[in-house]
Amino acid sequence: MENIERDTLEVDVLFVGAGPASLAGALRLRQLIGKHNEEAARTGGRKLDEITIAVIEKGREIGSHMISGAVMDIRPLEELLPNWKELGAPVESEVTVEDVSYLTRRFKIKSPIVPPPLNNHGKYVVSLNKLIRWLGPVVEESDVMLIPEFPAAELLYDGDRVIGVRTGDKGIGKEGEIKDTYSPGADIFAKVTVLGEGSRGSLTKKLVEKFNLDEGKNPQVYAAGVKEIWELPKGRVTPGFVMHTLGYPLPNDTFGGGFIYGMQNDLLDIGLVVGLDYQDPYTDPHRLFQEFKQHPAIAKMLEGGKMLYYGAKTIPEGGLLSQPKYFGDGFLLIGDSASFLNSMKLKGIHMAMKSGMLAAETILEALVADQFDNARMSRFADKVKESYIHKELYEVRNFHQAFRHGRRWGLIESGLQYATKGFGLLGDLKTEAGHENMKKLHVFNRRPNAPGQVPQAEPVKYDNKLTFDKVSDVYRSGTEHDGSAAASQGSGFQHLRRSLHGGIRQSMPVFLSGSRL
Ligand SMILES: Cc1cc2nc3c(=O)[nH]c(=O)nc-3n(C[C@H](O)[C@H](O)[C@H](O)COP(=O)(O)OP(=O)(O)OC[C@H]3O[C@@H](n4cnc5c(N)ncnc54)[C@H](O)[C@@H]3O)c2cc1C
Repeated sequence: MENIERDTLEVDVLFVGAGPASLAGALRLRQLIGKHNEEAARTGGRKLDEITIAVIEKGREIGSHMISGAVMDIRPLEELLPNWKELGAPVESEVTVEDVSYLTRRFKIKSPIVPPPLNNHGKYVVSLNKLIRWLGPVVEESDVMLIPEFPAAELLYDGDRVIGVRTGDKGIGKEGEIKDTYSPGADIFAKVTVLGEGSRGSLTKKLVEKFNLDEGKNPQVYAAGVKEIWELPKGRVTPGFVMHTLGYPLPNDTFGGGFIYGMQNDLLDIGLVVGLDYQDPYTDPHRLFQEFKQHPAIAKMLEGGKMLYYGAKTIPEGGLLSQPKYFGDGFLLIGDSASFLNSMKLKGIHMAMKSGMLAAETILEALVADQFDNARMSRFADKVKESYIHKELYEVRNFHQAFRHGRRWGLIESGLQYATKGFGLLGDLKTEAGHENMKKLHVFNRRPNAPGQVPQAEPVKYDNKLTFDKVSDVYRSGTEHDGSAAASQGSGFQHLRRSLHGGIRQSMPVFLSGSRL
């Protein structure tokens, strides 16, 4: 396949992945270029003419890969679009009611106060899916090319400098055979390539490995977030209701907890986060989530409701101490790709957006200087260090590690960390990669209270009302495989070219169609 002739496209700045990080970054860059040009017109300085900015997204539509409900710190949204309310940003509600509870197998014990780190006063419940579907066209209006259905498959290099990406070939069968619908991926060249692929992005992973960008850092540790959107009988959901739980169904040695958010139109967002550095080799986050819903207090909340949508995704939990070097010759890493996530608060949207916006400031300076090397890109790290996201990451840098000796110790240590700006009793904590915590089956089955050689948990009964098996859930996640979506659209570069040469509106119906929650 090496002799295949590929279409090429040259842009100035390429963002990979249309999540909150890239969209905020691309829009900010356009705003900054606008300001720069106004200033240049006034002062007779050099204008930045015809800078092309593109965002490619592997999802079928912009926003289609977003997992729905979230509690959002809206600071970056206010900075980016101070008139977001007038523009109709689809936030669900300001947080109105908060509940932090400990679950035993049967009981729910509500904390009399909301612990300060979990206080969401002034934050907003949003559907990330709706927010990104709304933000996409706003970004596009500002003259940024948004190109869905374009997965970046490889990075392109000139020596050690990143010079763009190659998008994935389309129309290749499961066994690698070439189908009639085959269309080779395109090479997109850029002066700066910004990776906003989210958690464990495929290009990011290779880039980090190639340049040892994580040298001297803790390995990244992940959690799995499993969630569903439910429609409840009218009047039962309070928009802005936010509940966090600890305890059941997670054993003491497994990091994580539950969350429930109230949205508009009687919709409830419910999910469970499970640290993937668990010891029990039988751990199954999907199954634990079914058990979570069967807890009497949770089942009662969901009674009479209908599950509409399911999603699951990893969360990079390692924070500051696991952050790779997030700049280099011709590239920047933003958002979850660079571990910009506050694991204590389970909040990454604002960090993703802010990191994208700081990347935009760096790129503006690089465009003005016409330099895109490591030294120029390193300004991004300076900007991050001066910003509130660094301060926030710094204070929670040991949070996840605090739980490596179990929940009880973790709560004490993280409480101390909160009081000491992240130091706690133990100072900066090293971690190993999550999988290294997993006990071998034969060792696990020999633990003192082990029931024998078989998995200890009873099988979950899937009743298709409250609990759902994995196949039904994957169906409700809207995941499509092979399907002809790409092919039927006129795949490959034709679609890209349409987008580039003013034909972007042609792709809009696809882009805006179908509104997931
Ligand atoms: C269950 C769960 C609950 C959460 N709750 C909250 C919350 O309440 N509040 C909060 O602030 N945060 C929350 N988060 C975290 C938050 O969702 C992320 O931090 C945030 O979405 C990161 O934004 P991003 O732009 O970096 O990446 P993402 O939002 O993951 O977006 C990345 C995009 O890149 C695309 N992409 C990836 N690879 C490629 C490629 N090679 N080519 C083209 N496109 C690609 C993906 O399809 C995706 O659209 C939660 C996360 C999970 C999983």
